[in-house]
Amino acid sequence: RQRDPHQPEFHQAVKEVMESLWPFLDANPRYRDQGLLERLVEPERVITFRVPWVDDAGQVQVNRGFRIQMSSAIGPYKGGIRFHPSVNLSILKFLAFEQVFKNSLTTLPMGGGKGGADFDPKGKSDGEVMRFCQAFMAELNKYIGADIDVPAGDIGVGAREVGYMFGMYKKLAGEFTSVFTGKGRVYGGSLIRPEATGYGTVYFLEEMLATRGETLAGKRVAISGSGNVAQYAAQKAMEQGAKVLTVSDSGGTVVDPEGMTPEKWQALHQLKEVERGRIEEYARRFGLKFLPGERPWGVPCDVALPCATQNELDGNDAVRLLSNGCTAVAEGANMPSTLEAVHAFLAAGILYAPGKASNAGGVAVSGLEMSQNAQRLSWTRDEVDRRLREIMRAIHESCLEYGKGQGVGGSSDYVRGANVAGFVKVADAMLAQGVV
Ligand code: NDP
Repeated sequence: RQRDPHQPEFHQAVKEVMESLWPFLDANPRYRDQGLLERLVEPERVITFRVPWVDDAGQVQVNRGFRIQMSSAIGPYKGGIRFHPSVNLSILKFLAFEQVFKNSLTTLPMGGGKGGADFDPKGKSDGEVMRFCQAFMAELNKYIGADIDVPAGDIGVGAREVGYMFGMYKKLAGEFTSVFTGKGRVYGGSLIRPEATGYGTVYFLEEMLATRGETLAGKRVAISGSGNVAQYAAQKAMEQGAKVLTVSDSGGTVVDPEGMTPEKWQALHQLKEVERGRIEEYARRFGLKFLPGERPWGVPCDVALPCATQNELDGNDAVRLLSNGCTAVAEGANMPSTLEAVHAFLAAGILYAPGKASNAGGVAVSGLEMSQNAQRLSWTRDEVDRRLREIMRAIHESCLEYGKGQGVGGSSDYVRGANVAGFVKVADAMLAQGVV
């Protein structure tokens, strides 16, 4: 804290991991050797740079770009790029730190990184977004590469932005390599990558429910967000027989007591991905209730899937969810629950999956995209989906290896399970490689 006094999100992420690790380290003191923890919380490299670009009015705009190369212990740095006005060092360091454990859990050889800029794509023309992406990549290209650091999308960075950044990288590097994942289908992207984080979150949820002999059929699900992760979590939850009651954005929450349908989903997808509209318009189009400025957590539900952003579910929200009968929470977003909320879920002994386990499907399929590119092959949709399911099952197993029966009343503690399982692999690699 003394070294980085203004990084509350980063401290929060580290604290959550350390709370899980202490008992494990007491029992396995060799993991305290070689300054392992001290090295883990210090990024291998932090790159910050100026991103100057020209807007449609001919004015020069200047944003700040970042790439955090957190850990390369088990593979090249891997992690998304976020474009949002709130982006700063604290947020990107927390995301990069989480990414290290998440990538380790996927069973694939990927280190951890994260990057982005304080650029707001909302309200910008296509041309402005393209010029910004090109300016961003004009600098970032020096630090990435297929065997060095492979970025992907995140908040504010979808297929359009990945396309512009990949195009610029290719031009500057003079080579076509797998330097980005989340690419379009026609230039090396993987089937199921757009769906992977949302689908994977639901697959993980189903694994947790199965430990209690339950399925998603008939369950009432509250989802936050309406972007990439939220959309595909909603689609898969519906497919598995659940009733999706809510979606949201930073403007408020839409409540749909009848439950989302495939037709409504299609309209939502079109609105967000093509028209780039607001969730309020979706509510209007279908005559649904819109709660301006509110989050979905006051709506009675069996399952909550926070899929928007960090710290969007606080201690009070957790108490409301629990008192309304919610028995399972799987995080599609990164660190959407505050520490108070996490503690409330753990104390209640409900099924609670931290994002680094439940949302790892996105980066896992990114890893599969890299494998396909390396082989110059493209797997079928069913093949990638089958592998995604297997990976989510394996992550669930890893969590149980260290978390089964560790929670209140003999419940499974997925927070401890994910943190310890993710840590052990990275730590073993670091111990083997010496102090570097
Ligand atoms: P998108 O940009 O597609 O969607 C983000 C959604 O969250 C939008 O509905 C947005 O609403 C909402 N949101 C963003 N910031 C805020 C805020 N400050 N307050 C309220 N709502 C907000 O991003 P993704 O769906 O890709 O990402 C969502 C979460 O999932 C993030 O935490 C991301 O890190 C995580 N994640 C994403 C992965 C991926 O593969 N894309 C992989 C693993 C995790 P609005 O439009 O109003 O801003």
